[in-house]
Amino acid sequence: MGLFLVTGGCGFIGSHLCDALIAGGASVRVLDDLSTGSPDNVSPKATILQGSVSDPDMVEAAMRDVEGCFHLAAIASVERSTRDWLGAHRTNLSGTIAVFDAARRVGRRPIPVVYASSAAVYGDCQDLPLREAAAARPRSAYGADKLGCELHARIAGEVYGVPTVGLRFFNVYGPRQPPSSPYSGVISNFCGRLLYGEPIEIFGDGRQTRDFVFVGDVVTALRAAMCAKIERPAVFNVCSGRQTSVGDLARLVGALCGHEPEIRFRPARLGEIAHSWGDCSLARRSLALPEPIELSRGLEITLSWMANTLRTRPRTREEALPAALMLR
Ligand code: NAD
Repeated sequence: MGLFLVTGGCGFIGSHLCDALIAGGASVRVLDDLSTGSPDNVSPKATILQGSVSDPDMVEAAMRDVEGCFHLAAIASVERSTRDWLGAHRTNLSGTIAVFDAARRVGRRPIPVVYASSAAVYGDCQDLPLREAAAARPRSAYGADKLGCELHARIAGEVYGVPTVGLRFFNVYGPRQPPSSPYSGVISNFCGRLLYGEPIEIFGDGRQTRDFVFVGDVVTALRAAMCAKIERPAVFNVCSGRQTSVGDLARLVGALCGHEPEIRFRPARLGEIAHSWGDCSLARRSLALPEPIELSRGLEITLSWMANTLRTRPRTREEALPAALMLR
């Protein structure tokens, strides 16, 4: 196996991808501005270039001699992209165009790019489960930029000959997702709170649903997409194909921690999508993906990682974990 570029490789999903590529015998170069990611997440066997995907010279230098590029760098938060519309756009869309542009110019042949899109492109489409052919109606700057990435991927392929596969990730969870960040997913937030013995906060009535996909399954899809012989610019859902309500999730995490969670209901967040549930059959067929892992198993892995990490490195709260914390 050759050399691969992973943009955003110091982040949650990117660092797991780097581990898997290295374990599979590949060499890995990471381009990351370290805005949310950390080099501590990444194997010392990877080479890290610190810089932004919105800097075309940097992207071009990072792309040299690589066999393929996994483009994951982004401001991966609806809230932050809403607050800093233009700044997020520079990373999320202009940065992606810089990646496609370098992929067409740097090598003797265009370099294949597998990039992260998002279920946010569907917006409030309620034709469930969401299929790739459903209407894309993003309701956030973040979702609009991810849809823009998909449109420019078509240009990359049809005008410049760059092979691309876009993966619409649903709610990804797993080890290394920081529980303390306000931008983290609901799973890491619930797990962190339960491990600290704190009440869980649910916005709305808890009946809103999400499709939670384990980070290991996402990495499998990313690697399969790079190996797939796909002729035209393609886009696939990466999800579990299962719908879980936020209330049920809270109870499941509680059961795995061995106690009933205290749930505090807060007013629903303005503009929050009621249901997000994907159909993964096209991706499973086209990329030959295995059955996604069960949510309870993925949660066990996540909780045990989080308990170990917080035990040895309490990061954001002053005191260490409550002694009462016992994971089954
Ligand atoms: P993350 O924040 O952990 O990782 C993103 C990485 O990109 C970080 O290491 C960050 O430092 C880096 N980065 C940000 N701006 C950059 C820039 N301008 N130049 C270079 N590096 C930059 O997020 P994640 O959850 O690992 O997300 C990875 C990708 O998957 C993103 O494209 C995100 O939009 C997409 N995605 C994630 C989810 C999810 O549930 N986590 C869902 C849908 C889509």
